Amino acid sequence: MKISVDREACYGSGDCAFRVPSVFTVVDGFGAVLPGHEDAGDDPRVVEAAEKCPAQAIALGE
Ligand code: SF4
Repeated sequence: MKISVDREACYGSGDCAFRVPSVFTVVDGFGAVLPGHEDAGDDPRVVEAAEKCPAQAIALGE
């Protein structure tokens, strides 16, 4: 599944990057997906990061 971060909702807490640093990072104060990892939405750690994002800014979709 494809990962996307809604920059309108994200407030840069960095929780996603802390939980899964191999997939997420923080760029210019917003959570971001590292290049080449956009399709890692099936990774259970990514699913957990999306569930626990305090802004509910991480979407997993097709
Ligand atoms: S956990 Fe959510 S609010 Fe925090 S940086 Fe990541 S996407 Fe943004």
